[in-house]
Amino acid sequence: MADALEAHKLQLVSLHGPTSRDVSAMRESAMPLSICEVERVRDAAFSTLEHLILHAHHAGVTVCIENTTSEMGDPNYLRAFVDETRLTGLRFNFDIGHAYLSDFQEDERIEKSFAPLHDLVSSVHLHDNHGEKDEHLPPYDGTIDWPAAIKVLKSAPQSNVPLVLELKERTGPEAPAAAEQIAAAKRALDRFEETWT
Ligand SMILES: [Zn+2]
Repeated sequence: MADALEAHKLQLVSLHGPTSRDVSAMRESAMPLSICEVERVRDAAFSTLEHLILHAHHAGVTVCIENTTSEMGDPNYLRAFVDETRLTGLRFNFDIGHAYLSDFQEDERIEKSFAPLHDLVSSVHLHDNHGEKDEHLPPYDGTIDWPAAIKVLKSAPQSNVPLVLELKERTGPEAPAAAEQIAAAKRALDRFEETWT
């Protein structure tokens, strides 16, 4: 991967961990944990993260956990988890699209989701949706109020937090060509940067 990044003059700022369970029929492993068993999952998350943070620190990598729409991905839950476990070194990746799917009143969703995490946010995922499902659209293609959202993001105490577009490729007969989707993403990012600066 390092070679490919160099060949395309790309810098790796953020890498998503796998989002599905690490299970394989060919591999010997313990039974997967049920997501219903929050306490057991929490303990497993703690010991995994404790190890990961240690190794990542030696490699100069910051481990971030991300807000999602699940019970354990709720910003208040994540904050309590970090405070209670005292996993120093653990940071947050603020996902703005997921925040916009939270249960708060529409115009407060991003601000209220950002508040518990703000001082430990080390990276941001940018994408848009219509407040109903996780669409991963380019900014301005959904209903997020981007000028207001930018104000919230800029309230973070740390400057130069990497902002990463996290888009889903549209597929199927109706979908524009990949090059066109990338061009649209670039236009969205340019518009975003205009408001940002
Ligand atoms: Zn994300």
